Amino acid sequence: MLIVMDRSATPADVGRVVDAAERMGLKAHPIPGEQRTAVGITGNRGTVEPTAFENLPGVLEVIKVSHPYKLVSREFHPDDTVVSIGGVPVGGKRLAIIAGPCAVESLEQTVTIAREVKARGAHLLRGGAYKPRTSPYSFQGLGEEGLKILAAAREETGLPVVTEALDTSSIDVVAKYADCLQIGARNMQNFELLKAAGRIGKPVLLKRGMSATLEEFLLAAEYVLAEGNPNVVLCERGVRTFSDFTRNTLDLSVIPAVERLSHLPILVDPSHGTGRRHKVAPMSFASIAAGADGVAIEVHHQPELALSDGPQALTPALFSDLMARLQPIAAAVGRTL
Ligand code: PEP
Ligand code: MN
Repeated sequence: MLIVMDRSATPADVGRVVDAAERMGLKAHPIPGEQRTAVGITGNRGTVEPTAFENLPGVLEVIKVSHPYKLVSREFHPDDTVVSIGGVPVGGKRLAIIAGPCAVESLEQTVTIAREVKARGAHLLRGGAYKPRTSPYSFQGLGEEGLKILAAAREETGLPVVTEALDTSSIDVVAKYADCLQIGARNMQNFELLKAAGRIGKPVLLKRGMSATLEEFLLAAEYVLAEGNPNVVLCERGVRTFSDFTRNTLDLSVIPAVERLSHLPILVDPSHGTGRRHKVAPMSFASIAAGADGVAIEVHHQPELALSDGPQALTPALFSDLMARLQPIAAAVGRTL
C-alpha cells in the first residue's frame, strides 16, 4: 500500500501516518519526492482498510500496490534511484563502466589490469576474491588476501571496488574492503545473504539468477531494501536457454521491463552473458542502446593464462576499442561516458 501525501502535508502529518501504520503492526517507509512525500506500507499479510489512512490529515490518496515487491517498485518510488559506489554514481546520465579480471590472482595481475582499465575510462574495478566455481577443483579465489589486493589496486588507481560476497560467513570481511558487495547469480535467492547485505548497508550489485523470472529478481532486491538498504544495482548476466552457441542467453529485453517496474539502476554483464570475447563488444553496444545504466566487463592482460573465464576476457586493447565505439552509441541515447 502506498499513501500519497498532499503537497501541503507537514512532517507531523507524515509522522501520524507512520504511527498509524506501526500501531497496526506494519512498517512505514517515508519516501520524500520532488512534489510530495509518499509513505510506503509493507508487512501487511492480510488486507488493510484504506480508510485507516484516508481520513488522516495531509493524506491525498491511498493506492493499493499491485506487485508483490514494494520498495523496489516505481509505484513506491517514481524517480530513478542513483546509487553511489565509493562516490561513483550508478544510474544517472553518465554510464557506469565496471571492468577488471574475473578473479584476483595476484597483486601484480590485479594492479596491472586496474591501471589498464582506469586509463581506458573504467569507473569501477571488479574482481572476485571468493569465487563461485562450478567445479570444486577449479580455482576458488584468494579469499581475504584477494581483498587486500583489491584494496591496494584501489589505492593505486582510485577506482572503487566491486567484489563478490559468497556467503554469510565471509560477508563481513568482504564488506571491510569492498565499496560494493556483489551477490552472484548462484546466490540471487540466498535469502540470508540478501538480508545480511541489507543490514550491512553498503551498495549491492545483485546479479540475476540464471533461471530467475523478473519478479523473482525484483523480490530478491526487495529483501535488501526491506532491511533498510536502498543502494541496490541490478545486473542482467544472461539466463539458461537451449541455445548452445553462447554460454548464456543475454536477456536484454529485461532492461526496459525493469525500467518500467522499478526505480533501481540496471547494468548488463555481457562477459558472463556470452562467455566469448568476440560477443562482448556487440552485446555491450546493444545493452546501452536498450537503456542499460552501464556494463560490467571482464578484462585480463593475459587471458590465455587467466585462472578463470579467460575465453570471455577482453584484452586491454579490446577494452579500449569497446570504449571508443561505445561513445557514439551512448550519445545517441542521451548518455555520457
Ligand atoms: C562474476 O561476476 O564474477 C560471476 C561469477 O558472475 P555470475 O554470478 O553472474 O555468474
Ligand atoms: Mn567470471
